[in-house]
Amino acid sequence: MSWAAIIGQPLAVRLLRHAVTTGKVAHAYLFSGPQGVGKRTVALELAKALNCLSPQPDGSACDTCAACRKITASSPVHPDLAVVAPDGRFIKTDQVRELQSDMYARPNEGRFRVAVIDGADRMNAESGNRLLKLLEEPPAYAVLILLTHNLSGVLPTVISRCQVVNFTPLSPDDVAHAVLAQTGIESGAARLAASLSGGSIGRALALAQDAGVAQRRDETSDLLQRLHELDDFDLLGRGEALEKQKEHLDDWLELLTVWLRDALLMAQTGSEQLLINMDRLAVVRSLARAFGPGNLLTMLTAVTDARGQLQRNANVRLVVDVLLLRLREAAALEMIASL
Ligand SMILES: [Zn+2]
Repeated sequence: MSWAAIIGQPLAVRLLRHAVTTGKVAHAYLFSGPQGVGKRTVALELAKALNCLSPQPDGSACDTCAACRKITASSPVHPDLAVVAPDGRFIKTDQVRELQSDMYARPNEGRFRVAVIDGADRMNAESGNRLLKLLEEPPAYAVLILLTHNLSGVLPTVISRCQVVNFTPLSPDDVAHAVLAQTGIESGAARLAASLSGGSIGRALALAQDAGVAQRRDETSDLLQRLHELDDFDLLGRGEALEKQKEHLDDWLELLTVWLRDALLMAQTGSEQLLINMDRLAVVRSLARAFGPGNLLTMLTAVTDARGQLQRNANVRLVVDVLLLRLREAAALEMIASL
């Protein structure tokens, strides 16, 4: 792994790489962005670049020296690198106290003492104040890298002492690429997991290994294909079942979106290139034929409305029932049109 191998985050990588090559590394960075987009990976890459025994002219670590290997070990064993994460709900005062004594000691083997503090938003008043002291008077060789997916939870005084580096959600292509590289699952499944992941590699990897996702994908396509056959009783039964599995509701809505989007693309362009459900071409084609672009758009709008209502904490059962009725109505319109 080197800077070039990091997926996404070109701005963060360019900034940090430039700092390393010009010798202008800040004493404290705050990496802010969603979970699973590479903050920790980039922090460890920076730690490597700073302490590599044969650094490359472009600011990359060599990846083969003893220092690099100690940092890339599954749990880093380099004596000049500390990785701190919440112990329970918070990063505790004792953890920061230990970090303080580590950071004020001269480096053992490398040029820098590097600390990665994962969960900078999860400090209590005392541990936060101790960290602040360290940020106010860092030793010359100290580099602190704070990570957070909740910037509003980080003490403003801590933020003001750090250079904030923003991490963005990854594109579905980037996520699919990472899932393929790390799991070796087939590309259709990787693309599906990526599209459901909200731009997070961590979530995509979990989804790729979740057999329930594949099952829910089949259930949603089956529902769409049978919509016009369902009577009120069937629909309300579906609504009840969905309400009982609230934890999967977001996935379910995203899966519906993905099917409808694929069918719309197919109906409008006839092309397979951009489909997510590439491994289910026959289903996508049949949905495209059954509904046509106008009704697919109406159905997509209905799903988007439902998601918005759920985000505003509307009654789950009501939202789901209305969504199912709207989907069936659009499906039935197409049936009437084709008579
Ligand atoms: Zn190295």
